[in-house]
Amino acid sequence: YDFGRLAFEYAYRYQVPGFILTDGYIGQLREKYRMPESIRPRPQADSRRLRSSIYVRESVLTAHNWKLFRRFERMRRDASLQQLAIHEYETEAKGVPADILILSYGIFSRVGFGVVERARREGLSVGQASLKLLSPFPEEQLRMLARRHKALYVLEGSCGQLHEKVREAVGQVPLVGLTAYPGGDLPCEAEVVENLRRFCEQLSPEYLGWKTEALALEDKVRRLQGRIAPNRGAAYEQIPLDEATYPYEIQGNRKARHPRSNPIMTDVPFSYCAGCGETTAVASIGKVLARLPQFDKVLYSPVGCSIFLYDYFKEEFVRNVQVPHGRSSAAASASKRVEPDKLHISVQGDGDALDIGFSELIHTMERGENITIVLFNNGTYGMTGGQVSSSTPLGEYSATTQQGRDPKRHGSPLDLAQFIAQPGVGYFRRALLGSQEEIQAFENALANALYHQMAGHGVSIVEVFTACPGRQKPSQAFVEAMAQKGVKAKGKVSASLQYSARVLPPGADALNVQRGTDVDDPYGELEKIHREGETAGRERGIPVEERYTRGLEILSRRYGLQRATEHPPASLPDLRVYLGGLGGQGVQSLAEALVKALSAVYANFTNSPWYEPEVTKALTTSSLTFTNREQVNPILQPGEVDLVVAMKKRIVEERLQMIRPEGLLVYDCEEGKLPEEEAAYRLVQVAASSTARKTIGDLRCANAVLFGVLAQLLEGVDLEVAREIVRQSFPAPQINLQALEAGIALMESTTPVG
Ligand code: SF4
Repeated sequence: YDFGRLAFEYAYRYQVPGFILTDGYIGQLREKYRMPESIRPRPQADSRRLRSSIYVRESVLTAHNWKLFRRFERMRRDASLQQLAIHEYETEAKGVPADILILSYGIFSRVGFGVVERARREGLSVGQASLKLLSPFPEEQLRMLARRHKALYVLEGSCGQLHEKVREAVGQVPLVGLTAYPGGDLPCEAEVVENLRRFCEQLSPEYLGWKTEALALEDKVRRLQGRIAPNRGAAYEQIPLDEATYPYEIQGNRKARHPRSNPIMTDVPFSYCAGCGETTAVASIGKVLARLPQFDKVLYSPVGCSIFLYDYFKEEFVRNVQVPHGRSSAAASASKRVEPDKLHISVQGDGDALDIGFSELIHTMERGENITIVLFNNGTYGMTGGQVSSSTPLGEYSATTQQGRDPKRHGSPLDLAQFIAQPGVGYFRRALLGSQEEIQAFENALANALYHQMAGHGVSIVEVFTACPGRQKPSQAFVEAMAQKGVKAKGKVSASLQYSARVLPPGADALNVQRGTDVDDPYGELEKIHREGETAGRERGIPVEERYTRGLEILSRRYGLQRATEHPPASLPDLRVYLGGLGGQGVQSLAEALVKALSAVYANFTNSPWYEPEVTKALTTSSLTFTNREQVNPILQPGEVDLVVAMKKRIVEERLQMIRPEGLLVYDCEEGKLPEEEAAYRLVQVAASSTARKTIGDLRCANAVLFGVLAQLLEGVDLEVAREIVRQSFPAPQINLQALEAGIALMESTTPVG
């Protein structure tokens, strides 16, 4: 949770992506979490354009990449990040640094807490530094740690990659030991301590002498290296760090101007090929949007020739968001949910929408997102060279189907109309862009689509069949057919209008496939919706601070029992509990109930669940640690568990090595009693399952019976709290309350053996 917050904070601050790396153990682990009392609202984006790549003009890409690099360098020097990078634990005793410093991350850091404690108990001088930041990697801090401690020791959940990185940072001279597990099992504390003991034997006075000399030499070389200025070319500082690259891309590269009568469009000339249908379509989109000044408008440009939209609209009138290939409808859906009063229009090609982003498109339709999609379908990947796309007609030429599209080799075209029966599709129209009437029909369809978006009818789609004369080549048969009609179709441009109709899926009625109704005056209807919104007070979203406070309230209501005691008694020693049974027996519910019951007694707990993949009849266990300390290893160590609860005999047979000498085994003796004489531990055998089945009438309550047994057994559990937990957290509370009482009574009449 903390990392999530921090990743967003730094991603916004430095305009870079943040990645959170974790592992399966941490992912499953549950523990007490103290929410910060408040959070700072994130800064708002300062540009109405969101453009992230494709800076390919001369020197601009270089300058852009240097800008990103310089931002990263600035991150490297950020004192707040450096502070976060390493968490130190027991790194010195009475002001003297530990001899060996363990470096670890993820669940291995938690194991490391146990290793440090055990090693210190056994007389080894060991501390730990948990790495919280892998990029920027805290090289400088590691170099300092390598000087402060005699040696480093990497404890990692990978095959040595961290060891290599540490080695790279600290140089070849300081010794760096290693315990590496590649993911899967975790090392036992005792095993690591044994390895540390052998490692310590290498830290001779001779080694320490070499180390001092070598580090002094390294300092000298580093000072020398610092004087050698790198050559980074002229573009290095061309773009100030906080500026967008976009204006540099435009400046000087688009000298020619193309004054337009449309006030919301720029004078950047269209870069489409002669005869390209997108020229007409983009001008039409501009005309429709210019008639809707009352709305904020956002266009989404994914990869493909439609991406150039970002150049053609003035940002004060139309925002533009550049989107990775295929992700346009997903991005627009997300924005629409937080900005429902704006018009969100995703403009995509067929390669983008029907190939690369088809999954996004189909699920946008499934969810019925209130956005509008304008799909330019020209049956090819125009921008990248005219390759076959999902909608290339059978028999048609493309760069990758030079003999025509063959259904056996290249598949058959995908027809979007086959999918529009989804209830989430509120409006669907198809358009051609040849005659004035067709262009008008497209504009009318777009205005209607926007009306359906704002009326909340689900996704509205206008599929425009255009030509790509820049890439497509009419087949000979097509040219001849046109010639017979008296149309000269040899030249690309002259053929393009007729050619666009070829992309239409077969069937006389293909152009008339529709969904949703047209309104007579979509602009008037949109104005009404706008006015209604103004009058009702549009939903502006809840301020972030208020949202956070509300969230805290909900969480504390929901988990009130866990947060009930702020000052638990500190006298109780740690309690380690291992629960096991089969899937379906309620092992994890029992673990959760115990956590709640003991949260009033201990300041902290960890609950590490584990299960085989099958839902039922497979082994499932839960490792619980209750403690009043801040840092513990949540992974239970063999032979050190205070209490094992076995809901199946298999747990006794396979996992009994977990229990410590004189620990307690609570066993549901449904499968027969265990011999009591030779037990090396204390034993409580209770007929939990048979009580649940015979007395309560439902075998599924066996975990509640056991909860009653444990509530009676464990020091500090308040029976009233246990009853409240069953009322609040168990399904069918009445019957489970009976089971709990039966368990309490069972324990009252049972005496532990041994
Ligand atoms: S490649 Fe095709 S789609 Fe792209 S601009 Fe040229 S004609 Fe239009």
